[in-house]
Amino acid sequence: MSKPLTEEIKQEVERRRTFAIISHPDAGKTTLTEKLLLFGGAIREAGSVKARKASRHATSDWMEIEKQRGISVTSSVMQFDYSGHRVNILDTPGHQDFSEDTYRTLTAADSAVMLIDVAKGVEAQTIKLFQVCSKRGIPIFTFINKLDREGQSPFELMEELERVLGIRSVPMNWPIGMGRELCGVYDRMNNQVELFQGKDHSKIEVRKVDSYTDPIIREMAGDFLHDQLCQELELLDVAGDPFDLEKVSRGELTPIFFGSAVNNFGVQTFLENFLKLAPPPAPRKSTSGEVEPTNEKFSGYIFKIQANMNPAHRDRIAFLRICSGRFDRGMSVKHVRAGKDIKLSQPQQFLAQDRDIVESAYPGDIIGLFDPGIFRIGDSLSQGSEITFDELPTFSPELFAKVTVKNALKHKQYQKGIDQLTEEGTIQVFQTTGFEETILGVVGQLQFEVFEYRMKGEYGVDIQLHRMQFQFARWITGEVDPSKYRINSQLVKDKHGNFVVLFENEYAMRTAMDKNPNTTFLETAP
Ligand code: GDP
Repeated sequence: MSKPLTEEIKQEVERRRTFAIISHPDAGKTTLTEKLLLFGGAIREAGSVKARKASRHATSDWMEIEKQRGISVTSSVMQFDYSGHRVNILDTPGHQDFSEDTYRTLTAADSAVMLIDVAKGVEAQTIKLFQVCSKRGIPIFTFINKLDREGQSPFELMEELERVLGIRSVPMNWPIGMGRELCGVYDRMNNQVELFQGKDHSKIEVRKVDSYTDPIIREMAGDFLHDQLCQELELLDVAGDPFDLEKVSRGELTPIFFGSAVNNFGVQTFLENFLKLAPPPAPRKSTSGEVEPTNEKFSGYIFKIQANMNPAHRDRIAFLRICSGRFDRGMSVKHVRAGKDIKLSQPQQFLAQDRDIVESAYPGDIIGLFDPGIFRIGDSLSQGSEITFDELPTFSPELFAKVTVKNALKHKQYQKGIDQLTEEGTIQVFQTTGFEETILGVVGQLQFEVFEYRMKGEYGVDIQLHRMQFQFARWITGEVDPSKYRINSQLVKDKHGNFVVLFENEYAMRTAMDKNPNTTFLETAP
């Protein structure tokens, strides 16, 4: 007899781990992802993730920009099984030309892995991505990479996490030497030493010890490194934070793991510990209260829309995060905003960009829905009762440009292009209050290029972008006095008619805030 549905969903939810890796370019995200996929048996050879990237370039035409720049525009989803768990990795573009999509993708994750280069420490893009995760209060696990190179001391890195990100940390393992001296790591939780065996070691050598003072370690590492290890761990035992799962779950304490992704060192133990400590899908907030993942009725929301993944068809794919129930291929669900029932007949699941038709899926999973233009970012789909998940945040753009159309006769196509591209959510459109000029706001420079390229390619409209000096956008409520925003700033409206002020620099923004006590300045749309 088959299991009752609730029981089945509960088991599937329990074993799922959906996370994103957040890092600055070059920290080793592609490398780490690849190692994780290898452990999960999702790929067979090292180099596959990069190779896939390359072959995708060869076949895609609209991604020409991506090819030219040699970066990944797309955030894909990769799934694999490991020791009973079903793991979903949400990939986020690593280049600094990332977009609002990157931020929004993080809303679909239940936890994050923060990857840091041991020498470079906390870098700019890591800070931005960390802040988005931190606002949601999801657990963040830290992997300090490139231990085979000389880097900062572990204490310096811990201090940096606290100073720059405001998060306390608890090392789960501790390096014995570093760079050319790297001997291994001491696993503080399991009292064992994981030995570093140099390049591409496939078998992990682990030695059980009594404690870090065990003479076996001295034999392996030598006097100098063992003395250093003892001193550092004694200090950590006395002055460091104890491991506290509650704090980790609330995102107040980050467990740190040291390793070297390219050498496959420390990756498997990281994966195993991460799967134990990271949470399964949690309840999600909706207008009608929290939705439990184990609820029998299917529900989910769209966090990303991507056009033209397959250039042969000018279609769009909507990425849906399942929040409750079981998804079955062909099922009918309510498209809540449109007030319509729709049939989900061509769902796709992703593995490093390959599309596979999916028969069933559970909370925590991401499915791709064929979108003939009916979905918008943030749309909820549900079975039975009408559930509307809390709106996705709009992130303040950081780059702005005025748009002009070269051929005025193309205005209609231009408007259509603007409407569709804003629905996909990678650009925001503002209107000046005086001459009704259009200003685009984006989070990453690449989005301007993509916009220009697609306007021409898909809508036949040649546009010109004139970069503006603004760096910040703040939505304002309360008193709105246009005369206050004439110097180093400009008052505009967003597409819903909300007032927004664009500022050229932080100083102008601070001054405006100080001088207008009756106005509220918001980082995201009200
Ligand atoms: P991404 O930009 O974050 O995806 O970074 P990649 O995975 O492409 O890695 C950037 C560079 O760092 C590549 O040359 C990798 O081979 C290298 N790398 C990754 N992990 C390690 C490591 O553990 N040690 C060393 N020395 N290099 C690494």
